[in-house]
Amino acid sequence: MISYNYRMSKYEAVIGLEVHAQLITQSKMYCSCDTNYQQAEPNTHVCPVCLGLPGTLPVVNKEAVRAVIMTGLALNSEIAKTTKFDRKNYPYPDLMKGYQISQFDEPICLGGYLEIGNEKIPRKIRVHRVHLEEDVAKLHHETSIGTQNTYSLVDVNRAGVPLMEMVSEPDMRSAEEARDYLTELHSILQYLGVSTAQMEDGAFRCDANVSIREKGSKELGPKVEVKNMNSFRAVQKAISFEIERQSALADTGERVIQETRGWDESKNITVSQRSKEKANDYRYFPEPDLPPLEINLEWVTRIKATLPELPRQKISRYSKEMGLSTYDASLLASNSKTADYFEKSLGFSKNPTPQTPKSIANWINTELAQYLNQGNVDILNQPVTPEIMSELVELIEQKIIGSAQAKQVLAEVYKTGKSASEIIDSLGLKQVSDTGELQVAVLQAISENPKAVEDFRSGKDSAQKFLVGQVMRLTQGKANPSVTATLVAEELSRYSNSKE
Ligand code: ADP
Ligand code: MG
Ligand code: ZN
Repeated sequence: MISYNYRMSKYEAVIGLEVHAQLITQSKMYCSCDTNYQQAEPNTHVCPVCLGLPGTLPVVNKEAVRAVIMTGLALNSEIAKTTKFDRKNYPYPDLMKGYQISQFDEPICLGGYLEIGNEKIPRKIRVHRVHLEEDVAKLHHETSIGTQNTYSLVDVNRAGVPLMEMVSEPDMRSAEEARDYLTELHSILQYLGVSTAQMEDGAFRCDANVSIREKGSKELGPKVEVKNMNSFRAVQKAISFEIERQSALADTGERVIQETRGWDESKNITVSQRSKEKANDYRYFPEPDLPPLEINLEWVTRIKATLPELPRQKISRYSKEMGLSTYDASLLASNSKTADYFEKSLGFSKNPTPQTPKSIANWINTELAQYLNQGNVDILNQPVTPEIMSELVELIEQKIIGSAQAKQVLAEVYKTGKSASEIIDSLGLKQVSDTGELQVAVLQAISENPKAVEDFRSGKDSAQKFLVGQVMRLTQGKANPSVTATLVAEELSRYSNSKE
């Protein structure tokens, strides 16, 4: 085998991604059935429309259209003035009507781009289009226990759930870039709140189109469409595998066949599913039961005004205005919940210093993240509230506790849900540096230990250390040792003065 590096200097990978995301709406795309099917009994969220019974009529879900427009705006797309729905015909048991109501030549969003990479090497990946369609039913493949006959059961609950398809241009040049694009898109949808974008629930799915060509060539090679990846990691691995496989074929002078392949997660390979030499003939035609939609410009403007600050903007604000490293800023901004938590914690800071954002970021990204990852816990649903986080950082900044104690406090808050100050009190972690308070303890130690004072007078320096120890005992170890030592020394010098 010729080495990967050699090949990659000879060939260039060309990748385009097609991403499907289920939209968060109350009802399905063309009927009033409840979309909340994940926990439901099979075939309980169905009606004549999504069952595909003859004589029924679809109605477009306005919320779904709004979500697609919002996504298009976030992806810098042009929002169409008019859009229409089309029938995509193909026979398959998961398709109740025998066709899917999708969009063919007049999608809601056209063009656009998404930025990946960092400030030093920014990359714009162009978006081809974003359109609206409907999800299909779910097939459960079963085997009879006795006869070992195989059969399939259809659950129609998912059929008709609004599905948004986002198609990129073939602008990515490596598996890593494809993964970056996917991560960025995922994060944007999550920020917009248009999709749960949960890959494990099937709410966010990606097909990867991969081809190779000789470096410098402007033509596109025959592409392979890879399906069936269930994680970001799988997408990246499947693309890497395809680039390798196609490069190896090209090296031996073999031609890459245009086909659909499936990712086999257990074997870490792609396998041929069906040849796609001829374009699939879906016999698209305009959906006769739905009139074209006019998209009101004023509505688009109103939707635009509701766009939240997006991950890239946040990263840049966190690093430029708050002095966070791009790394820390990206960790916080990758998920809108973490970003929310960070901003809320900052908001609770009573006396923020220029260091406060960095300290809070640090505690979130290291200590807290460690606990959350261990238990796969939601940051907005755990005992260390933003208020407690800001309190903790403030206590460190005011030198009331050291960072070792702070870690102990965080662990304890996480375990018990008690406030930081409550835990500091109960664990006795708070240092006493207040001279007035310490003075009382110093005087008490001296009056309780006349022998030690005598020893000191007769020149035993160890008596001074003994008294500091007594102050520690009286304060349960909370006395600041250096302040205590100074106070004890001062007090004893008074005794030695009075001696003369
Ligand atoms: P299809 O009709 O097979 O779905 P499209 O032209 O609609 O093909 O493209 C689907 C996706 O494949 C898009 O993301 C596009 O960028 C990508 N794509 C198209 N041609 C190539 C190619 N030669 N290599 C890699 N990706 C490609
Ligand atoms: Mg396609
Ligand atoms: Zn229905």
